[in-house]
Amino acid sequence: MMYDVTIIGAGIAGIFLAHELMEQGQTVLLIDAGKPLAQRTKQEAYLGFGGLGKSEGKYNYSAGFGGELAEKLGAETTLRLMHQVDALLCRYGADEVESYSTSNPVLADRAKVAGLETIETTVRHLGTALSERILRRLEAALHEHVTFRFETAVATIKRQTDGFLLTTEHETFSSQRVVFATGRSGTAWMQEQLQALGLAQSKTRLDLGIRIEMEETAFRTLLQDTFETKLAYASAAGTAVTYCMNPKGRIIRKHQEGLVMPDGQNFREQDSGTTNLNFTLFLPRYFATLEEANHYAASVIGQINQRTDRIVVQRLGDLRAGRSTQSGALTENKVRPTLAATAGNLIEEVPGTDITVLLEFLERLEQLLDTPLSNDTLLYGMDGKFYAPMLSTSVTFETDIPGLYAIGDCSGVTHSLSQAAASGLHLGQLLTQKTAVLRDKFS
Ligand SMILES: Cc1cc2nc3c(=O)[nH]c(=O)nc-3n(C[C@H](O)[C@H](O)[C@H](O)COP(=O)(O)OP(=O)(O)OC[C@H]3O[C@@H](n4cnc5c(N)ncnc54)[C@H](O)[C@@H]3O)c2cc1C
Repeated sequence: MMYDVTIIGAGIAGIFLAHELMEQGQTVLLIDAGKPLAQRTKQEAYLGFGGLGKSEGKYNYSAGFGGELAEKLGAETTLRLMHQVDALLCRYGADEVESYSTSNPVLADRAKVAGLETIETTVRHLGTALSERILRRLEAALHEHVTFRFETAVATIKRQTDGFLLTTEHETFSSQRVVFATGRSGTAWMQEQLQALGLAQSKTRLDLGIRIEMEETAFRTLLQDTFETKLAYASAAGTAVTYCMNPKGRIIRKHQEGLVMPDGQNFREQDSGTTNLNFTLFLPRYFATLEEANHYAASVIGQINQRTDRIVVQRLGDLRAGRSTQSGALTENKVRPTLAATAGNLIEEVPGTDITVLLEFLERLEQLLDTPLSNDTLLYGMDGKFYAPMLSTSVTFETDIPGLYAIGDCSGVTHSLSQAAASGLHLGQLLTQKTAVLRDKFS
């Protein structure tokens, strides 16, 4: 049998593509290296049905961050797709939670005066439990029409005169079109496949940042109308952006890429809230290859970790005075640390550029808040956000090989749930249009 489309990777990008194709009557094969949703364990945080989407499920509907979809498709198309993503999620139960907007024109004007910019978004924050229920319903709906192969690795993809031939350990499949949707977790496998197909990836992005923890009251004037805000600062070293703002949240350890980093835990995921607020200020960097990006991350974060789970924390007052924070000082600190970290001096642990950008940003934040930040504000080093290498694709996500596509995070274009989903939906709409045109032409 010849499938219309074979999708490799059942993360959010692959699921939204499969759903669109299924609704338009296409024959779809969906292959994933991981397990069906019900069989996934905590250890399989990346692999299996839902991919990384089996998480807190915070969908940010914005063309301004979470990927470069707007650069590729234009802001209007991106936002239209996001409305459609949300509508589909709601069909499967997402409207159990209300969406909210972070738009605040008064704040946006004040930020501009202070040399910052606000990035607006509409958010539907599902939370872990609802996110899983929706994925379960989506999986059941897809099972009606889509052929699944779980715990299956594709060994080879070969071009044929008509479509592609895929081999796995036990089977071979023919497909008119093949779509990579393997997220960041499939990077090594995808590199091998692309090499065999004669395609090369280009630069790789890496974001590094310091996580900032302060008393929640310090942000009250900014957040009186909205739950959270996203601020951007166009520094000489690139645009730094706040990420994962957690009012009333805690900081927890995140284990990724063999590194240990400070991460925000939303108060909804905790037994009780805190009186603090935390977020990371990320600065992007670009490297010629994935290996170079990984090497750099290891040389900074790995160095801090010292082969343990060491994270360094410093008081803002001490950083500004150029001295180390003593561990005794933390017990009396007005901002109570929500993470047990090693008191130290970030100047000795973090690249100078990141310190400069952080201090410049904090000065602007003080202008925006119209009050100095407490010297007891805590700074944790160092958080990281990792990306797949970028692959050259057209506006239809087609690679240089006709019929071979890459969507979601593995394309290097998206790095959020909403943008990964939108890329899947977009390709689904284009492929079904194309098939309809071909069918009309030859019927
Ligand atoms: C800790 C963490 C928290 C996040 N929180 C948020 C958030 O709250 N909001 C947000 O918008 N974004 C968040 N993101 C980013 C978001 O999860 C991703 O951008 C999104 O899930 C990408 O979707 P995807 O379908 O492209 O890839 P993935 O979700 O990574 O899915 C890829 C799929 O491919 C499969 N796969 C991998 N390799 C192979 C292979 N060789 N063969 C077959 N199958 C394979 C995997 O099993 C998986 O199912 C978070 C990311 C991380 C790491």
